[in-house]
Amino acid sequence: MTTETSTTDVTTFDGLLAAIQAPEGQGVEMKDPATGAVVGKAPVLSEADLDAAVSRAQQAQRGWGQKSHAERSEVLNRAADAVEASAEALAELLSREQGKPLNGPNARFEVGACAAWLRAAAAFELEPEVLVDDESGKAVLEYVPVGVVGAIGPWNWPMMISVWQIAPSLRMGNAVVLKPSEYTPLSVLGLGAVLNQVLPEGLLHVVPGGGELGAALTAHRGVGKLMFTGSTSTGQAIIRSAADTLKRLTLELGGNDAGIVLPGADVKAIAEDVFWGAFINTGQTCAALKRLYVHESQYDRMCEALVQVAQNMPMGVGLEEQNVLGPLQNKQQFDIVSGLVEKARDAGARILIGGDPEADQPGHFYPTTLVADIDNDNPLVAQEQFGPALPIVKYTDVDQAVAWANGLEVGLGSSVWGDQDDARAVAARIEAGTTWINKHGAVDPRIPFGGVKMSGFGLEFGVDGLKSVALPKVVSW
Ligand code: NAD
Repeated sequence: MTTETSTTDVTTFDGLLAAIQAPEGQGVEMKDPATGAVVGKAPVLSEADLDAAVSRAQQAQRGWGQKSHAERSEVLNRAADAVEASAEALAELLSREQGKPLNGPNARFEVGACAAWLRAAAAFELEPEVLVDDESGKAVLEYVPVGVVGAIGPWNWPMMISVWQIAPSLRMGNAVVLKPSEYTPLSVLGLGAVLNQVLPEGLLHVVPGGGELGAALTAHRGVGKLMFTGSTSTGQAIIRSAADTLKRLTLELGGNDAGIVLPGADVKAIAEDVFWGAFINTGQTCAALKRLYVHESQYDRMCEALVQVAQNMPMGVGLEEQNVLGPLQNKQQFDIVSGLVEKARDAGARILIGGDPEADQPGHFYPTTLVADIDNDNPLVAQEQFGPALPIVKYTDVDQAVAWANGLEVGLGSSVWGDQDDARAVAARIEAGTTWINKHGAVDPRIPFGGVKMSGFGLEFGVDGLKSVALPKVVSW
């Protein structure tokens, strides 16, 4: 069910759905978070299915691992072509199941990123590194396949994050067994069906199921490396269950990214970029701006400029072309966001816009919300809200803003806005895997990405990302 080449036309939405749905009478209904309509029924696999997938992956990997980088890159480029040929069908499936609109930095953008990351993983050069070459002898460092890479993903960017795991793993000669989030299995099964049109039989398996199946994959003896993207608490559980097999790990975990607007920044000019840094994917993004620190000298003007931008960004059903913001993907996330905004309101913070979701709606829409005059220790600032609610905190001196930015246990992304030289000096003091200047969340397949502190460890993207899904091997003579 997870690797067979589909017999239906996966360039159409109906064909794609037919290729991935559970057999008649089985599976779980996946509902559109915007309307409550049933999108399709997703299969749920057992641990025996997982064992079978790992064993088939091991067999397929033997031949694949022998191929040259050029041969594997050629297949990855064809996989990117296949994604592009099915782009509209994939975007519609993603929009319906995840909720994100087709337009804006959302479903079509995500599918485009899948093709871009596949091509980037194919393009990097990775030659053996000559470490010593003198009269004492020679030593070379090479990177060899791990074998089977296990991958576990979240529900916010289900296709793109899956490609972030699949593309480098395949490029380095591994097979992949991927467990998608139970909230977005169809999206990842759809991506898998498209990729499996061109990948060698048995190399990529998508195994839908819940947290227990993820735990079984994490502990599996046939899996040599695990790539995980999700919450910090699940990351901690994974470290524990990976201990017995000493599995290699890449952990991309939660964040609560700070953005600091420096005195003198042109707040009108940056407002739209700040907005999208925070509200991309309706705020459901790991490296989105989740707490904004603005100097008191332009606090009111920044608040006004953000309200202006927010008023002009339509939110609604994903398939309606005008929308650029969508619903929360699930009720649990909706409750987290509304609970945090209520706590802010109760503490006396000022809601500039939003904060009042419609009662009895069929979807999980939470309005675009900006919250001003809020204390740094309010839960809406201190916890990862992962939704369309941005707290804007006033500061009086930059040292205070840096201390607040560094005051949490997480450290994924961050940003500084203003004069470039001043911003670079502040960036050097921020504890995060990435600090962007005058932008936020601008991930790039050529630039390594990863968290520090409780946001995880290991790098994705770029040549460093390739090395992290391979085993370093020294040959010395
Ligand atoms: P989650 O941790 O609840 O679930 C992620 C995945 O882990 C799911 O597939 C789930 O089934 C699986 N899982 C659950 N329990 C497991 C266990 N014991 N062992 C193995 N797998 C298990 O996260 P989520 O709610 O889907 O995603 C949101 C979180 O992910 C946020 O905190 C967000 O910041 C983070 N995230 C991080 C990045 C990054 O690159 N750092 C990217 C996207 C999302």
